[in-house]
Amino acid sequence: MARFVRATRPPAYKNSWKRYKPFLRFDFRAQCAYCEKTELYARGHTGFGADHFRPKSNPAFHSLRLNYENLYYCCAGCNSIKNDEWPTAELVAAGFFFVDPCVEDPFKSHIKVNGAGELEAQTPQGDYTKRTLRLDRKDCLDFRKERISARRALDDAEKVLDGLLTSSAPKERKDELKRMLRVVAQLRRCWAQFVDPPPQQLLHHIPKKYRRDVKIPSGAASV
Ligand SMILES: [Zn+2]
Repeated sequence: MARFVRATRPPAYKNSWKRYKPFLRFDFRAQCAYCEKTELYARGHTGFGADHFRPKSNPAFHSLRLNYENLYYCCAGCNSIKNDEWPTAELVAAGFFFVDPCVEDPFKSHIKVNGAGELEAQTPQGDYTKRTLRLDRKDCLDFRKERISARRALDDAEKVLDGLLTSSAPKERKDELKRMLRVVAQLRRCWAQFVDPPPQQLLHHIPKKYRRDVKIPSGAASV
């Protein structure tokens, strides 16, 4: 299943791919197509832009320079590292080419994220993608570590509070525990917005007249 699904219907801009940015922000849920860092985590959208998945400098893909389907939302780090990279025919034949996040989720079967946030390539495609984009660089590793530790902390807090709630605690104590559980649930929602914002919150980025054409995807990737 694709990591990112295009739900917008942008017009065909003839002069600049940069005009697609509002649509890309929505379709890629304000996160980098490659390292998954979000705008909120990276302190704003100004460091994000459009990457030509099939490089526009490659004569074979020159005709795709204004093609919306070939534009991927991406952080400045991944954009500059990926640059004009594209595998040779020999590499492709050997299975070494980019995992396309608009076709499948790179972090499901091609690249495993271990408990410390480190990456382990599972396939030649995963290996090529991880190495070429340098996805084990410090800023990406820090993001994955924070994502994992925050989720663990929330899970642990919920588990402990749940455990205390089932004991024979007095009513006042149970009410207090229930209140704390609601706080944890609220924090979980806040954190989800930070690492995988819900589509509804991104709709306002799209020019008004195109919003009614958007098909809001159901369900978000688990973080
Ligand atoms: Zn990135």
